Amino acid sequence: MLHYLYPDGKRKACTFSYDDNQIYDRRLIDILNQYELKATFHINAGTLDQEGFIKSDEVRELYLGHEISCHGYSHPFMTHLSQTELAFEIMEERKILEMITGYPIRGLSYPFGDYSDDVIMALKRFGMEYARTVENTDAFGIPGDWMKWKPTCHHNGLSEELISRFDCPPEYSRLPLLYIWGHSFEFEREKSWVLFEKMCSRLKQCTDVWFATNIEIKEYLTAVRGLICSASCRTIYNPTAKTVFLLADELVITVQPGETVTIP
Ligand SMILES: [Zn+2]
Repeated sequence: MLHYLYPDGKRKACTFSYDDNQIYDRRLIDILNQYELKATFHINAGTLDQEGFIKSDEVRELYLGHEISCHGYSHPFMTHLSQTELAFEIMEERKILEMITGYPIRGLSYPFGDYSDDVIMALKRFGMEYARTVENTDAFGIPGDWMKWKPTCHHNGLSEELISRFDCPPEYSRLPLLYIWGHSFEFEREKSWVLFEKMCSRLKQCTDVWFATNIEIKEYLTAVRGLICSASCRTIYNPTAKTVFLLADELVITVQPGETVTIP
């Protein structure tokens, strides 16, 4: 079978996901930026400008280089809502966040981790392409269903042991992904800023890792899954807009958008 790699021929990927836009996001972003780590911030548009929360007029600059995504306008239990309320929670939020950021908002994390198949069906109609749950896997798999994206661990589960396991995956593993989630106020409450920074520093020492936002991971893996290959699996056509990387006979091969490549 074809052996796919992440962008630039990297073997592993890592992404962070932080919810609730409290003021502690400022310190968290300082740390992430220092180690060039990438995150997606799931924002409740309804709490922007309230005391203890990020201000609307700082959002664009503060989160620059990271992704902004939905978390429900008022942080609702989504399974409790009528279709109309759910439409408001996502579409009103999208309009506000899109006005601020200037780009389409495409994903979310479920407030309280609460979702159902009916909620997912509605969210897709509102343009949502992925959604993160709070069901930790303690593993490095990629999602089969983007609307039920299960993370590896909460940041409290980010240990030396887990990072070492991620850094040295077994030979058979393909496209391992470390997905960490949490809330910045937890670092403040649990006085765990220093420990987290130590883990970020350790992560940055891992070899061959693509650090990316949630939507960047989703876009790239969608492109991988969108490739068309010959019956021999040696000729690959890339109909997508992303360059895809794979490994063949120890060589990194790139397939550019629109290109057809035959592996010798
Ligand atoms: Zn939340």
